[in-house]
Amino acid sequence: MLIEVLAPEVIAKIAAGEVVERPASVVKELIENAIDAGSKQIKIEVKHGGIKLIRVVDNGSGIPSDEVVLAFQRHATSKVRDAADLESISTLGFRGEALPSIAAVSQVNITTCTSKDSTGTYLNMQGGKVTGQGQKASPQGTSVIVRNLFQNVPARLKFLKSISTESAHISDLVSQYSLAYPEIKFELAADGKTVLQTPGNGSLRDVLVEIYGLRTAEAMIEFGDGGSQVYGFVSPPSLARSRRDSLSFFVNRRWVKSGLLTRATEEAYSGLLMTGKHPIAVLNVSIPLGDIDVNVHPAKTEVRFRSEGEVFTLVQRAVRAALVAESSVPDAKRSPRPIGLSSTASGSERTAMQERLFREPASAQGQQPRKALPESRLPILRIIGQLATTYIIAEGPDGMYLIDQHAAHERTLFEKVMAQRAGCAVEVQGMLEPVTIELTPRQESMLNKAQEALKSYGFAIESFGGKTYLVRTAPALLGEGDVIRTVYEIVDAFAEEGDRTKVEEKIAASIACHGAIRAGKVLTMEEMIRLVRDLENVESPLTCPHGRPSMIRFSSSQLERDFGRAS
Ligand code: ADP
Ligand code: MG
Repeated sequence: MLIEVLAPEVIAKIAAGEVVERPASVVKELIENAIDAGSKQIKIEVKHGGIKLIRVVDNGSGIPSDEVVLAFQRHATSKVRDAADLESISTLGFRGEALPSIAAVSQVNITTCTSKDSTGTYLNMQGGKVTGQGQKASPQGTSVIVRNLFQNVPARLKFLKSISTESAHISDLVSQYSLAYPEIKFELAADGKTVLQTPGNGSLRDVLVEIYGLRTAEAMIEFGDGGSQVYGFVSPPSLARSRRDSLSFFVNRRWVKSGLLTRATEEAYSGLLMTGKHPIAVLNVSIPLGDIDVNVHPAKTEVRFRSEGEVFTLVQRAVRAALVAESSVPDAKRSPRPIGLSSTASGSERTAMQERLFREPASAQGQQPRKALPESRLPILRIIGQLATTYIIAEGPDGMYLIDQHAAHERTLFEKVMAQRAGCAVEVQGMLEPVTIELTPRQESMLNKAQEALKSYGFAIESFGGKTYLVRTAPALLGEGDVIRTVYEIVDAFAEEGDRTKVEEKIAASIACHGAIRAGKVLTMEEMIRLVRDLENVESPLTCPHGRPSMIRFSSSQLERDFGRAS
C-alpha cells in the first residue's frame, strides 16, 4: 500500500481508542470531569453495561455557553495552559482528549449551565459532528448522555465482554472514585437498579460500609488522617481475601494501578497473612506535584514516582505500624460448654484477684520491670499449665488464653532468625556428623541459586560427588529440627518465588518451623514460661509466620456470661 495520511475521522477513531477502551472508560472520564468541576454530587446511570446509555449528572461549575463546542475539540482544555503546567498537574484531566474521544465513538447530548449563565446550553453530537445546539433550562452543573457506544467501531464492539462484566467494571470504577472522594455524594444505577449510593459526608469509613458492608468496614483499621502523607484503611489479617482485587490506591486522590504500592502494602503484612491471602486496603498517598509524573498512560491510571524507594518505605511503614498497633488476640468464637464447676468469687473480686495474679510472676522471679510494649497488645500472662501436650493455658488481665506451643515458638524463632540475619550475626551449629542429602537435577540447579542465601543463614553445604551433598553446619536456631527437610524447602523456595524478600521470608519461616517445638511435646513449667516470655517480646506475637493464630482468648466477660455471672 502507498503511504497516505489518514482521513481526520479515522485519526479521531484511532485516538479515541486509546482513551475509550470500554464503557467504564467513558464513565471514568465523565466522573473525572465532574470532580474537576468541583461537584458535590455525581449521579451515574447506565443501561446495558453502558453500551446503550451512560448518563453522568453533576452539580459542578458547568461549562460557559460559548465554550461548549470548544470543549469537544481535541486538546481543548481549561486545566493546562503551557508545558510548564504539565510538571505539576493538580486536576484529574489535563489532555483535553476525553470529550472529543467519547464523541467520536458514540452519540452525545450535553446540557450544562454555569452560575453566571441565566439559562443552560445544550449540544448534540453524533460520530464527532455537531447535530444540534441551543438553549435549554438546566440547573447549575453538567449532564452528559452517551448513547450507542462503539456502534461506529464494530471492531471495538466485538471485543467487549458480557454486559455483566462491563457493568462490573463500571461499578468497580465508581466504587474507587467514591473511596477517593468521600465528600462527594455518588449514586450509581444500572438498568434502573441502584447499585451504589454514598452519603458524601466526608467519612471514608461510611463509604467503606457501602462497598464492603458494615462488618468489614467496622473491622478495618484506620491510619493517618486526611492531612497525613499516607492515609487510609487496611484490613486486619483476619479479614484477608483470596483475591488481590480489594486494593485501592490513590496518589493525590487520583486512582492508580501501582505494582509498587501493591508490593509495599503486601510487604507490610508479611508474616501476618496465610499464603495466597490478600488484604483489603484503601490508601491515599500525598506526593508533591513536582515529584510525580501522571502523564504516563493514555487512561491516566499510572503514575511515575520520582523516588520509588521512598514511597515504598513510606507506605510499607505506615501500614505495618497500623497493623501492629491494632493487633489483638482473637477471641474464642464458640463459647465453651459449661461443665458444672462453680466459684464463690464475685465478678469484681475476680478481677482484683486477676490483677494480683497476673502481676505476681514477674516480680516473684525478681525480673526487671518489663518494658511497656506499646506496639504489641500481648498482656503479661500467668502460665497455668499444658493442655493436650499442644496448648499452653494462661491467664491474662482480661481472660483465659490458649497458646499453640508450636505456632508461638515458631513466631519467636522466625523473628530471631530474621533479626540475626539482618544483623549479620547468624549463630551456627556444627553437625557432629555431616548430614548427607540427595538432590534431583532440578533441585541441584536451584541449590546453585540458593547457595549464597543458605550460607548467610548458617548452612554450609558441599558437593560429595554425584547427586549427594554434605551439610556441615546449620543455623543454631534450627536446634534439633529436620535439617534435610529444611534444606529441601529452602531450595524449593528458590524455584517458586522470584521476589527476593518473599524468598528470605520463606527461608526464615522454614528454619523457624522445623526448629520450633512440635505439638505433642510435654513442656515443663519453666519451658512454658520461657516460651511465653519470648513471645511477649516479639513484634507480631499473634500469628505464626504462616498467618495461623498463635493464641486465642476466652474473655472474662464471655466466661462470666457462660457461667451466668453477668448481671
Ligand atoms: P480535560 O478534562 O483533560 O480538560 P475533557 O475533554 O475531558 O478534557 O474536557 C474538556 C473541557 O471541558 C475541560 O477542560 C472542562 O473545562 C470542560 N468540562 C468537561 N466536563 C465538564 C464538567 N462536567 N463540568 C465542567 N466542565 C467540564
Ligand atoms: Mg477530562
